[in-house]
Amino acid sequence: MRHDASCFYCVKDQRRDDLMIQVAPLEVSTLFLFREQSYRGRCIVAFRDHARELFELTPEELGAYARDLARAARAVQGAVSPDKINYGAFADKQGHLHVHLVPKVKDGKSWGGMFEMMPEPRELLQPDEYQGLVTRLRAGLAP
Ligand SMILES: [Zn+2]
Repeated sequence: MRHDASCFYCVKDQRRDDLMIQVAPLEVSTLFLFREQSYRGRCIVAFRDHARELFELTPEELGAYARDLARAARAVQGAVSPDKINYGAFADKQGHLHVHLVPKVKDGKSWGGMFEMMPEPRELLQPDEYQGLVTRLRAGLAP
């Protein structure tokens, strides 16, 4: 297992929890709800190990990660009914493979363009609103 002691995805510490809420473990990754919710239902699918690039994964891991992404995206679609889901993978700085799932609404924020990574001001929700999204996402993960 690849691990980086300075990476918050690997260490699973407060830096991670300040940014996201764990929704559910998937086959080779974990689904998180992003706390910043300018794009309602925005999530992250983080690979289980500290891989930097897709080509570092075995064929089996790659197939499983693609299945996880599709399953998570279906759950996002079911939870918030966007017109399109954007998929963003960057990780320039901390280098742990993860993909942003960003629901977009026709003619809404950033429609037709690149989503904002960290919009200002941050749109944060009330605890019961986060819980409602987590519940809907979990329901959408069911086979
Ligand atoms: Zn890591």
